[in-house]
Amino acid sequence: MSTRIYILRFPKETSNEPIIYQLVKQYDVEFNILKADILPQREGLMILELKGIKDKVNSGLEFLKSFGVKVERLAASIRRDDEKCFQCGACTGICPVGALAIQRPEMTVVFDPEKCTGCSLCVPVCPVRAMEVSLGAGTLAEVEEKTIV
Ligand code: SF4
Ligand code: SF4
Repeated sequence: MSTRIYILRFPKETSNEPIIYQLVKQYDVEFNILKADILPQREGLMILELKGIKDKVNSGLEFLKSFGVKVERLAASIRRDDEKCFQCGACTGICPVGALAIQRPEMTVVFDPEKCTGCSLCVPVCPVRAMEVSLGAGTLAEVEEKTIV
């Protein structure tokens, strides 16, 4: 399984096409739209997380390119804001690789960035948003600000 975040730039000719719907249907990938700015007859921009079998994700990206969509990969990493984290443990059940785990007997939640794959599953489950997606040079909000015109 591969989970990656991409910036997609859509030419204005494709603004009315259900391309993402076709992508999901034909290539069996899951998606999470992190940001979208798409209006009729205008170039559009979307920040999209894609999850699926690597070969299918790659084929899906080629499918997007065949419509003239420019695809750019964002390197995501996850960090925890230790000031916000209150050790509730809610994130430990969802992490597929054990990067978030309860340490006994202290019962504290430890985050191991070396194990983390950047899948982002822990981000929405944290009640105080202590798990943050960081994209290369900045946070997701900063990247959106830089990329959306
Ligand atoms: S991003 Fe994924 S792998 Fe990393 S800590 Fe969160 S759930 Fe675990
Ligand atoms: S869900 Fe959030 S607050 Fe709770 S242990 Fe995980 S990071 Fe900390």
